[in-house]
Amino acid sequence: MERVRKQNDHKRFERLCALALTDSLSIKERRDIELHLQGCETCQARIQDYSQIGEAGMGLVAGSLALTEAAKHWDDQKAREKLESSILDNGPGGASKGKLD
Ligand SMILES: [Zn+2]
Repeated sequence: MERVRKQNDHKRFERLCALALTDSLSIKERRDIELHLQGCETCQARIQDYSQIGEAGMGLVAGSLALTEAAKHWDDQKAREKLESSILDNGPGGASKGKLD
């Protein structure tokens, strides 16, 4: 049943199309999907769709990651300064020593 087999492959490649855009395919899977795409307009269109969504999605993810990273950095910096100044102010020996290397 060539038809069924193809249909099964097609199902598999539907998944691989999505995975392809997240760079989580093995080299073999990548080759498989490239070969399949050459003969399958449906999957070509699909991966086109996915990559458009993917780009927007990646942009969103990258944006929120960048924001998180910046916030983390900022928080970290602030926490460090706070900690340092609280050590300097209230630490044993007192702040007047002002030991700054
Ligand atoms: Zn296909």
